[in-house]
Amino acid sequence: MARVALLLGGNEGDLKRTLQTAQRLINDRVGAVMRCSHRYQSEAWGFHSSQLFTNQALEISTDLNPIEVLDAIQQIEVELGRNRAAEQIEKAATGARYSSRPIDIDILFYGSEIINEERLQIPHPLLPEREFALQPLAEIMRTFRHPQTGLTVGEMFDAVRKREVVPTEQ
Ligand code: AMP
Repeated sequence: MARVALLLGGNEGDLKRTLQTAQRLINDRVGAVMRCSHRYQSEAWGFHSSQLFTNQALEISTDLNPIEVLDAIQQIEVELGRNRAAEQIEKAATGARYSSRPIDIDILFYGSEIINEERLQIPHPLLPEREFALQPLAEIMRTFRHPQTGLTVGEMFDAVRKREVVPTEQ
């Protein structure tokens, strides 16, 4: 059994409903949801959008290996309306690296494993820079330590709030 932290987010459609459905599908297919943060809203990050993002962190307990978790969450994203082809067109038109989407699910931690593969990097490399990920995560896993830096989630959140870490992307 591995303890896995996921970040759910999106900025299109009925987010409350989408996040509730995502949580149910994750619980059924990926692993039991042990803890779940509140939903937090934030400005779009990395591109301009009038639609606020909503994010929520989950801690699950799973028997799946990391790639199986990735496959399962990507399947759930598609079922909940994520259309990567449409996102590519939007990104090409705006020149931005990110775009609006109804749902995005990222793996933040898989226990204390460190994975550096083309398709999967764990811990999520941008986690220390992302207040929108650290805030919900700090609610449910404040004392969990990043396996590479040794910092707790709470320490990372405090650092990013004080802007000790400057975001690398505009
Ligand atoms: P997305 O942000 O959903 O557009 O993800 C883009 C790609 O990031 C996916 O195709 C994944 O293969 C890759 N990826 C790498 N590391 C992770 C991770 N920790 N969680 C989720 N996706 C990841």
